[in-house]
Amino acid sequence: MATLFDNTLKRLIEAAEHLDLDPGFLGKLKNALEMTQAYLSIRMDDGSIKSFLAYRCRYNDSLGPTKGGIRFHPDVNADEVMALALMMTSKCAVMDLPFGGAKGGVMVDPHSLSIMERERVSRAYIRAFAHVIGPDRDIPAPDVGTNEKTMAWMMDEYSTIVGKRTPAVITGKPVVLGGSLGRDDATARGAYNIIQHKARTLGLKRGARVAIQGFGNAGMHMAQLMATDGYKIVAVSDSKGAVHAPAGFDIGELLAAKRCGRVMNMAGSAGVSVIPGDELLAVDCEVLVLAALENMVHKGNAGSIKARLIVELANGPVTPEADEILKAMNVVILPDILANAGGVTVSYFEWVQNREGERWTLDQVHARLKTAMEREADAVWAYAREKNITLRTAAYVLALSRIAAAMEALGTEKF
Ligand code: NAD
Repeated sequence: MATLFDNTLKRLIEAAEHLDLDPGFLGKLKNALEMTQAYLSIRMDDGSIKSFLAYRCRYNDSLGPTKGGIRFHPDVNADEVMALALMMTSKCAVMDLPFGGAKGGVMVDPHSLSIMERERVSRAYIRAFAHVIGPDRDIPAPDVGTNEKTMAWMMDEYSTIVGKRTPAVITGKPVVLGGSLGRDDATARGAYNIIQHKARTLGLKRGARVAIQGFGNAGMHMAQLMATDGYKIVAVSDSKGAVHAPAGFDIGELLAAKRCGRVMNMAGSAGVSVIPGDELLAVDCEVLVLAALENMVHKGNAGSIKARLIVELANGPVTPEADEILKAMNVVILPDILANAGGVTVSYFEWVQNREGERWTLDQVHARLKTAMEREADAVWAYAREKNITLRTAAYVLALSRIAAAMEALGTEKF
């Protein structure tokens, strides 16, 4: 069976067919620059010692120091880390950021750890990979299972190791420690900026119905932004189940229910019914937001989708086989490497602020993010039109053209 890495590489190879590239460039992109693994041994609260397998992959640094999140999840594995690092390489290139791509992870269920144990895992991760990361080498960030608290511990550990305060080594920190305003909802806001900018082209009208798979950080912010703009949120799910409100949820109640634990807390409210989690995809709506995990839409369920637009806030939520089915159904997909790139864009803003010793206002962050998202959405749409290809392939073509130009400019010494 094709792995997530195989699927990601396949998309890059397809995009390369639309460019006149030196085959050596694509050859280089088939392998990661550096893949490091370590066992993190932690003293647990009960006095026992446990070891957790951890990875850091720097995939490609042609455009600059590598950048990518750290995931704490029991299913973390080498293939997934490499695939996500390759996606980050493409995402940074699509956004024209001066970064290459990376990713890291620890095979652990963070919910099974106490807060002290989580801190020990986070600090041990940095001790294991301190020689790999650095503000000019590789800059981590949060991902699934990690958050600003994790980033604060990690920044502190790195600063202790190098003997100087180094906020630019990691992004997604609390604002009080040099985090950027606007980082919390940046991923959703970036996608929302594109939807607003392209609403007419996409045929979206005020009041359009939206279903959201994965009501976590990205999904909740997306619901809030879209509901405030007049869209109707009609179904949401998390790992515990899904709820459906054909007339639209009261967004305040929905967010409050999730903050108290899970979306299922909405069950029992007027006009709300519980549906099986996998039926969320088949709900009647115009927009389907995928904000959970990889491979959620596959050949077995793609045909049931009713939405005309899919927004990929998650990384790799649609398999290549499902892509083909959805293309035949004329469903437009706003691809992950563009749609969820608002997060890494504001991470870049954070890195710039840390290096300059500046603090930007929320309005400055929002304005710069909007400009960046609209500029690169226009560039992706232009390739899609010119070459008559999907937005996904167009996004990879744009990314690949920039990475290849950097490789070309760097010369042959590195090959
Ligand atoms: P999160 O952990 O806050 O949210 C994920 C949500 O998905 C949770 O509510 C979880 O319950 C739900 N979920 C898990 N399995 C599910 C299933 N089978 N069905 C329905 N829901 C399910 O994580 P997040 O930060 O919101 O990230 C979500 C996705 O977005 C990930 O793929 C991540 O890599 C991607 N992403 C996030 C950011 C960011 O800044 N947060 C940036 C870029 C990409």
